[in-house]
Amino acid sequence: METKTAEEREVDGYLAEGVFLLQLARPELRPFSLVWDFSPLLTRTGGLAAYRPAGVHHIELSAPLWRRASPSERRWLVLHELCHIVDGVLHGRTSGHGEPWKNLMRALRVEPRRCHRIGTKDVKREI
Ligand SMILES: [Zn+2]
Repeated sequence: METKTAEEREVDGYLAEGVFLLQLARPELRPFSLVWDFSPLLTRTGGLAAYRPAGVHHIELSAPLWRRASPSERRWLVLHELCHIVDGVLHGRTSGHGEPWKNLMRALRVEPRRCHRIGTKDVKREI
């Protein structure tokens, strides 16, 4: 049996909350498949979102930065990446950090900022 870590459950919780709220805000949003994982390699960017119209969408989160982030920074980061995916699902393409993405962030009542504010000084790759 696969047991999830506390960190994995935390990410899953933010994703579930975000999807729930975005479905309320945008009833036209159809169900979609998403997987995510922690990357030991990301030391500057907090996360990456891959919108894959023909496949399963994917979010990577920086493992080293996650550990330095506060709960509110973690939640912001997950919702930021989720909005990139939902932007693509709704519009057939992603707008980057454009207005369609910002509007989804606003629907979640989170600041539509491009960059995280997690400290990156002396962060090392974890491999
Ligand atoms: Zn972004």
